[in-house]
Amino acid sequence: MDELIAFLKRVYSEMIPINSVGPDNGGPGELEKALYLESLLRQLGFKSVKRYDSSDPRAKGGVRPNLVAKLFDDGRPVIWIVAHIDTVPPGDESLWHYKPFEVTFVDGRVYGRGAEDDGQGVALALCVAKALLDEEPKFDLGVAFVSDEETGSKHGAQHLLKLGVFNASDWVLIPDAGSADGSLVEVAEKSVLWFKVKVEGKQTHGSTPHKGVNANRKAMKLALLIDQFLHEKYKEEDALFEPPVSTFEPTKREPNVPNINTVPGVDQFYFDCRLLPRHAVDEVVLDVTRLLDEFSKKEGVRCTLEVVSREDTSKPTDPESPLVKRLTRALEKRGVKPRIGGIGGGTVAKYFRNLNIPCVVWMTCDDTAHAPDEYAKLDNVISDTRTLLELFRASD
Ligand SMILES: [Zn+2]
Repeated sequence: MDELIAFLKRVYSEMIPINSVGPDNGGPGELEKALYLESLLRQLGFKSVKRYDSSDPRAKGGVRPNLVAKLFDDGRPVIWIVAHIDTVPPGDESLWHYKPFEVTFVDGRVYGRGAEDDGQGVALALCVAKALLDEEPKFDLGVAFVSDEETGSKHGAQHLLKLGVFNASDWVLIPDAGSADGSLVEVAEKSVLWFKVKVEGKQTHGSTPHKGVNANRKAMKLALLIDQFLHEKYKEEDALFEPPVSTFEPTKREPNVPNINTVPGVDQFYFDCRLLPRHAVDEVVLDVTRLLDEFSKKEGVRCTLEVVSREDTSKPTDPESPLVKRLTRALEKRGVKPRIGGIGGGTVAKYFRNLNIPCVVWMTCDDTAHAPDEYAKLDNVISDTRTLLELFRASD
């Protein structure tokens, strides 16, 4: 295992300094990181290594690269490890104790932007490959290192799925979220809907409110109405998820007037909604639209709805599927009690699940993604490698 830790440290040392922030976030894109990983995959002995570029003139080289490789490529059934190679920007660098684009090893942790999200997924796939080369596993290891996960996956996982790179008979592991003890095996995700409501009344002086229509007051009333309606209508529970219900949270509020003695004529607020897979996003949008129409008529204001972002979820992966069974058995062997469940956020899993490809999101991590001082624990990567070796090896 010493050899594997040395390899892991080498991969991290070479990978972290390569900035692969996507162009939507002001970065150069993933080409340089992909070129590095492509040569590493070949060095390791992968029998087939292919690159699928998606054109994007904003990125370095004009492309968003995706690497697809198979370790043995001899017709064995394939378990894929899909990890993304783009990262988010460091954010406020004064909040970091370590340099985001220089690798730092302290107390068994590796620090740097992308150390966990999703460098840990990349590192895990490479460690599994290295270890599998000494064996005759039942499954082939497929590796897909994809671009553009942080900004919609159009140039990444979605591009590869459109090209038909994966088969419905394949299994897919996505080490891009997890829990600190490795117990969470994610098989489902909620749909995400973000919407904005604009309420237009009539601005006036603070001393003469009767001459205007206070958009702030109307907006507060309306926000509570929406809040109450959605919670009452969509109150079903699904024990797969934590929390087990759909959630509807009023979150951001746009500033209205800069001074205290003006009654605002416009007020804008946002909701973050996470829906259980059984509910359609469209139905919520229709409900809110209807509430807005009724409220506008009754209260003498103009209300408009804007869907800022939506991610319609897919059918969950069957908790009884052989992939989930195998992974839970491997975890039990490791002494971890598996918890099969769903999360409220969206990963690339939904694109695979939409095509009925069984897929789990899993790894052991402290959840430091996007934070300053992002890190991964080297021991977690090694333990996860051992768990996955079991998965590739195990006979039925
Ligand atoms: Zn990620």
